[in-house]
Amino acid sequence: MPEHADGDGLAAATALERFVDALPKVELHVHLEGSVRPESLLTLAAKHGLTRVPDTLEGLREFYRFQDFAHFIEVYYAVCDHLTDEQDFALVARELGEHLAGQGVRYAEVTITPFNHTRRGVPAGAVFEGIERGRLEAEAATGIRLRWCVDVPGEFGAEAGLETADLVREHRPEGVVSFGLGGPEAGVPRAQFARAFAIARDAGLHSVPHSGETMGAATIWDALTHLGAERIGHGVRCLEDPRLVAHLREHRIPLEVCPTSNVCLSVVPSLAAHPLPRLIDEGLVVTLNSDDPPMFNTTLRAEYLHAVTRMGLSPAALAQLARAAVRASFLPARDQSRMLADIDRVEVPDEADS
Ligand SMILES: [Zn+2]
Repeated sequence: MPEHADGDGLAAATALERFVDALPKVELHVHLEGSVRPESLLTLAAKHGLTRVPDTLEGLREFYRFQDFAHFIEVYYAVCDHLTDEQDFALVARELGEHLAGQGVRYAEVTITPFNHTRRGVPAGAVFEGIERGRLEAEAATGIRLRWCVDVPGEFGAEAGLETADLVREHRPEGVVSFGLGGPEAGVPRAQFARAFAIARDAGLHSVPHSGETMGAATIWDALTHLGAERIGHGVRCLEDPRLVAHLREHRIPLEVCPTSNVCLSVVPSLAAHPLPRLIDEGLVVTLNSDDPPMFNTTLRAEYLHAVTRMGLSPAALAQLARAAVRASFLPARDQSRMLADIDRVEVPDEADS
């Protein structure tokens, strides 16, 4: 009977949701500027008297609704323009930490792109002191632990890379653990950022550039060869090159996979067609992440749920993804062990129930 089937469906969804909520999670690929909620943007627009975005929550939600890549960039930079003082950065950092903690995220490495602010005349001190204050407030309020990935907007070229490396060396906020590269991949050769990455790595930062998202496997090779990539932001297009897949597998180089982002930005046609299951089958180290959650109408929790309901993974495979993210993180080994033990304690629902 359809009623019966519906009832089962409801109970099953609840079992999966309970499991995903209980699973201690790590988020390794989420952008601070891409995580500002429409509610906070409204507050910031009022505070600074800016009129670039709609002035009602409804209007802003509509503005956020994903249309295409050009619109995404418009929303992203509109958000950046509203971040102008230390308090603004503290606010959005604290809110992101609290939002992640509310989804059962215990640890997150959050990407921040200081060049997008310093080039508008925002002092680097305001950016770094603001995010650090917000981080500490979120940690104190929720118990989550946040760390930063300072990233270069690739479209501004090698100079932006060197300036970002200098900024991070000069200010060296305590929470920074890694150095990244984002923005469009087309027409932005990775090799030009080699010097900036060398400076950042000499300063003790890990290398986590985006590559193999909108462009093919060659950009991943470039990230490995020229930037010393320890993890790959996205990397889903590695599947185009079996030799690269073998290399990533052999060297246990994790991929930060962001399925909903890939669908929104037309990297893949749908969640059902997403290569996540294939990447896992290839024996690669795969982690699940949310990228720019409010702009893609997603959350890390939703990504975990979709992996089962839309991409056909089992709940046990979800627990493996959660473990992979812990191991791929830059958490100290002792903290990784503790979190892995906590994941082991979460009861995995039967596949039939999920
Ligand atoms: Zn990203």
